[in-house]
Amino acid sequence: HADAAMYQVKYKGRNGVFFYDDELRRRSQDRIHLEGELVKALERDEMTLFYQPKIDANSSTVSGFEALIRWIHPERGMVSPIDFIPVAEDSGLIVPMGKWVIRTACRQHVAWLKAGLPPVNISVNLSCHQFADHHLLASIEQILAETGVDPAYLEFEITESVLMKDAEAALQVLSEMKAMGLKLSVDDFGTGYSSMSYLKHFPIDVLKIDRSFVLDITTDEQDATITSAIISLAGALGLAVVAEGVETREQLDFLRQCNCDQVQGYLFSPPVPADRAVHLITKQF
Ligand code: C2E
Ligand code: MG
Ligand code: MG
Ligand code: MG
Repeated sequence: HADAAMYQVKYKGRNGVFFYDDELRRRSQDRIHLEGELVKALERDEMTLFYQPKIDANSSTVSGFEALIRWIHPERGMVSPIDFIPVAEDSGLIVPMGKWVIRTACRQHVAWLKAGLPPVNISVNLSCHQFADHHLLASIEQILAETGVDPAYLEFEITESVLMKDAEAALQVLSEMKAMGLKLSVDDFGTGYSSMSYLKHFPIDVLKIDRSFVLDITTDEQDATITSAIISLAGALGLAVVAEGVETREQLDFLRQCNCDQVQGYLFSPPVPADRAVHLITKQF
């Protein structure tokens, strides 16, 4: 029909010409389908948290874990958060889902304590809508009260882009979180548009250097320079610094030379289920 003709494009793929609107329709149906399944996923207990250790670069012991959500779909198998977090963001489902993440991470912290292990730092990611949600602080307070977790062991990772979206509002929320005794980190640092002055104004504790810089530090001089500059900057501002996505011994050696505090990546461990993470808590890497 007319619309189809309007959107007909030449697609230089294996199948030659195809109808762009068919592709769009298929994709949006896929998305609606995914959204419906996502709503049920929480009720059906298909979500779980994996934990990836952050390693102290000096002592080579675990300094904490980052909680990362996983969706074990009955037919699709493991669905990556990269695929469903955006859908959860758009539908608003991220708010109850995010609350579930915070509660589950806090319960895990308590479970490990009760098992006689030392208190473990846990960080939880907050995406855009969660951070903008007016009930966020009340939800965190409620979860802390209900689980009895000491807020000093709970950290929130917020990306630079989310913080910069509305810097004034962000400052307000961060200050309140800080007053609650929580730890705050800037995730994927160096990838968003940011002004250096916010580092001075925001009450943050940690900078997490994005994986894209770490990836080539041993082969790309510019990435090496940027990474070492971020580490110096963090040090000068009194912030801790974590390098994400460390996969090789060479990257680790370089980061150690730069006095990077903490490292995280497949070289040490991928994100693992809680029953495997427990063995890492006291491990010497
Ligand atoms: P992120 O917070 O920057 O998390 C780091 C991502 O890098 C994780 O992917 C982790 O598995 C992966 N990673 C860690 N080490 C390495 C490495 O050495 N090499 C490579 N190639 N990758 C590594 P994941 O778990 O797929 O999560 C992707 C993103 O989804 C996260 O990025 C975060 O933005 C978001 N996310 C994950 N869990 C949650 C959650 O519970 N809530 C919210 N709001 N977002 C989440
Ligand atoms: Mg993160
Ligand atoms: Mg990150
Ligand atoms: Mg990321």
